[in-house]
Amino acid sequence: MFDFIMTKEQKKLRDEARAFTKWVPKQLILDMDAEKVQFPHEYLQEAGRRNLLGLRIPKELGGRGLSWVDGSIVAEEIGVASYSLGCLWGVGADIVCEAISLFGNEELKQAVLVPLLKGETFAAEGLTEPRGGSDFFGSTTYARKDGGDWIINGQKRFIVGAEGADWFLVYAVTDPNAPPHKRITAFIVPRTQGVESKYIYGLMGMRGGGAGRLLLKDVRVPERYALNGINGGFDVFVQMMIPERLGAAALTIGAVRPAIEIATRYTSKRKAFGLPIQSFQAVGFKVADCVMLLDAARSMVYSTCLAVDSGKVHPNRVRRMVSQAKKFVTESAWEIANNSMQVVGGIGYTNVYPLERIVRDIRLSMIWVGTNEIMQLIIQNEWYKEYFKVLSKEDVRDVESDALNADAKDEKIYE
Ligand SMILES: Cc1cc2nc3c(=O)[nH]c(=O)nc-3n(C[C@H](O)[C@H](O)[C@H](O)COP(=O)(O)OP(=O)(O)OC[C@H]3O[C@@H](n4cnc5c(N)ncnc54)[C@H](O)[C@@H]3O)c2cc1C
Repeated sequence: MFDFIMTKEQKKLRDEARAFTKWVPKQLILDMDAEKVQFPHEYLQEAGRRNLLGLRIPKELGGRGLSWVDGSIVAEEIGVASYSLGCLWGVGADIVCEAISLFGNEELKQAVLVPLLKGETFAAEGLTEPRGGSDFFGSTTYARKDGGDWIINGQKRFIVGAEGADWFLVYAVTDPNAPPHKRITAFIVPRTQGVESKYIYGLMGMRGGGAGRLLLKDVRVPERYALNGINGGFDVFVQMMIPERLGAAALTIGAVRPAIEIATRYTSKRKAFGLPIQSFQAVGFKVADCVMLLDAARSMVYSTCLAVDSGKVHPNRVRRMVSQAKKFVTESAWEIANNSMQVVGGIGYTNVYPLERIVRDIRLSMIWVGTNEIMQLIIQNEWYKEYFKVLSKEDVRDVESDALNADAKDEKIYE
């Protein structure tokens, strides 16, 4: 985040996050990328010990009661060590804990949330299914009532932390005949009888985060483990798309930042034709564009955080802003990672520099937590709604009528 907007306290917070990121052992990063580690328990334990999990959760539950702006200052620093570690940090504490904090009962808060924030236990989130992630409401994982319990059957795919998590936030259909927004329930599911995870994916990047298949076979969960009640999953889903997408955007900025720094150092030292390659515009301009994109991405995350923190911006507009931030930041990050590798030349494509890992990791950002095509869909829907409901009614100059032939009504044909 920009240092010039930070208060003294926020700078202290940033430095705390930086110290944690510096603590991460190099070997852990290498072992995760080589898939020698499937789930880095010690990383989340250490984050818990430092009280760096679930920063927006109220203090009385073990969080810090911070704002979205504060959270994104930390997220950027957390993303720096590795995107995969950052993702684990975000999924368990930011998403699952926030869901319990906002929609769970007291029992879930005390028995599940508190140990999660201490880093004693771990959580994962299961939305995507083998049959698809974008069509979330077409979910086929279902639950049927049995006395005071619900029995869940189904499968989830690509679940970060499937390997390693003790608790899962699982969305399941509980009323198949109801309209989409009334048919789904968000359950907090323990790793119990009938829950099985399979570590089966050969991922291009983002390795070592336990991403696997989650199989649920006759899994019995008490009704009180349903967040926001039975068939109340829609509200949970909509609310959680803020930490899911805005949180991912903030982490992505941190994950790609080192690529620019490596490229900057390299291009200022490396010589060709007797000159530092930085002096060739084809090189220096690429770095310049990378820096510009990173700052633009930060600005977008910052303004979106302010919008969420204010609590005064209409939820539909927040939804658009969050989706815009996710899409813009991740596409910028991809361009930054790619161009940073380009200006470093052949050695950037080797494991002498971590650029190749950053490129592999960042590629996922445009696919997960809702693909960028789904972000476009949301932006489009929300923009048209907002324009005709709100913006078109504002008292502003009618520029359309400033054209010479603006009143040629016969030429303004729409059908
Ligand atoms: C490493 C990794 C970690 C992940 N972690 C998690 C996790 O922890 N929890 C979790 O629940 N999920 C997770 N995911 C899943 C991820 O969020 C999904 O892969 C993503 O949402 C896309 O779903 P899909 O793969 O089923 O693609 P599909 O939904 O099948 O989409 C395929 C393509 O079709 C496009 N498309 C689909 N519908 C439309 C439409 N209406 N308009 C325009 N284009 C459309 C998509 O944009 C995409 O390009 C993870 C994925 C990976 C690879």
